[in-house]
Formats: sequence, structure tokens, C-alpha cells
Amino acid sequence: MDLNGKTALVTGAAGGIGAALVTRLRAEGIRVAVADRDVSGLEAEAYLAGDLCNAAYADALPRAAADQLGGLDIIVNNAGVITRGAVTETSDDDWSLSLGVNVEAPFRICRAAIPIMANNGGGAIVNTASCWGLRPGPDHALYCMTKAAIASLTQCMGMDHAYQGIRINAVCPNEVNTPMLRSGFAKRGFDPDSAVKELGHTVPLGRIAEPEDIVDVIMFLISDASRYVCGTLVEVNGGKPVS
Ligand code: NAD
Repeated sequence: MDLNGKTALVTGAAGGIGAALVTRLRAEGIRVAVADRDVSGLEAEAYLAGDLCNAAYADALPRAAADQLGGLDIIVNNAGVITRGAVTETSDDDWSLSLGVNVEAPFRICRAAIPIMANNGGGAIVNTASCWGLRPGPDHALYCMTKAAIASLTQCMGMDHAYQGIRINAVCPNEVNTPMLRSGFAKRGFDPDSAVKELGHTVPLGRIAEPEDIVDVIMFLISDASRYVCGTLVEVNGGKPVS
């Protein structure tokens, strides 16, 4: 890949997909700024711990990453939260948290990053949406809505900022074997290992995704191999429809 020496900011860097992504980016010679509530277990070139619901923190992240890394070529807005349930089971706190992390924070980060990237001749941003944002799934109304919002924002930004040499795309996984999915099983009283195995039988490829399956697609979207891909939503689902 053509990525050696580039600089990247990753949110949700301590999570399942985030940690695998940080490892891979660094293996490709990219200097990485990690953002999450707790980044103490990660190896990186810059550490930017904080809460993405804090608007001032989200607004300041791109500048902080650029200053500490000496540039900002790549952003992966990967942090996310999931709320289960129908609208009638959704609290005001659920609403604020889901909108705050899944939509408002990437909006703030992109808004602050685009002028920085444009000034440096361009860059690549990958937002993390979900298959569940492209088509509705049962019992996750708020989650689906936030992922639809970030998918739409990605398509719009991809169009609006292409002229500045900035390619903005989204990756849209279906189920991935990460703490987000596993803790949901545990909360409902299922053994996560057996539940993940069972869920694999519902996927045409025979298993749910591992974080690395998503990371490979993100690597494509940030690399020059995708130089003509812009404002696109890439589904990574093993052939499984939303159901
Ligand atoms: P994860 O829970 O393992 O990681 C998410 C990370 O985001 C965590 O490290 C968490 O601390 C961080 N985060 C959450 N709220 C934050 C806040 N307020 N401030 C700072 N950091 C915060 O989940 P994951 O599965 O690795 O998810 C990564 C992305 O992939 C998310 O956007 C998620 O919605 C999306 N996704 C996941 C799946 C799946 O099945 N796991 C499917 C589709 C899309």
C-alpha cells in the first residue's frame, strides 16, 4: 500500500474494530493518534483521550491530532454506541448518547478536519455506518436512525468536498465479533461464544465478521487503490441481509 509515513486519527480506538485498525495502520507505517475514553492500553504516536459527547473535545480533535502528528491525512470516525429497543423503550439519555456519539461527533470532527486536510492538499475520511442504517432492522430504532444519518452525511460530504481532494466514504458492517456485540449477548443472558457461533449460521459466508474483515475494507478506502471512490457506502456483510 501507499500509506507509509501518513498520519491518521482514529476514534473508538480502544474498541473491537478500532484496536485492530490501529494495529494495522501502524504496521503499514502510518503514525496514529488514538481517541477514546480510555486509551491507556494502546500503542500509538499520539494519545487524545476524552468523551465524544463533549462538543469542545470533538471540535478540537483534528487540530490536536494534526499538531501532535505533524499532519492529518486520514480520519476514521469509528466510535459508536448501540441502543436496543423500540422507540417506546428509548429514553432521553439514550437519544442524547446515540445522536452524540454516532452522528454529532463525526459531524464535528469532519467539520473541523476538512479545512485542515484541504490546506494540505487532501485526505481520506472513513465513517462507520452499518447495514442497519441502510435498511431497517427490528428492535434497534434509534441505532438504525443514527447510522442512516451518518450514511447520508457521508454521501453529502463526499460530494461536497471531493473538489478539495478529500474522499469521504463509509464502511457499513453487519454483525462483527466485538465487545459491542458480545456485551449485548451477555446482557441478555447468552454465552457470547455460543451466540456468535450460532449467529454465524445465519450468514451466507458461514460466520459473522471479525474486526480484521472490516479493517481490510477501511484500508482500501483510505488507500490510493480507492482513489476514484467518493461518497460511497460500502457494505461488508458476508452476504447477509438485514433481518
Ligand atoms: P466497540 O464497543 O468494541 O467499540 C466502540 C468504541 O467506541 C469503544 O472503545 C468505546 O469506548 C468508544 N466510544 C463509545 N462512546 C464513546 C464516547 N462517548 N467517547 C469516546 N469514545 C466512545 O464496538 P465496535 O463493534 O468495535 O464498533 C465500532 C463501530 O462499528 C461503531 O461505530 C459501531 O456502531 C460499528 N458497527 C459495529 C457492528 C458490530 O456488530 N460490532 C456492526 C455494524 C457497525
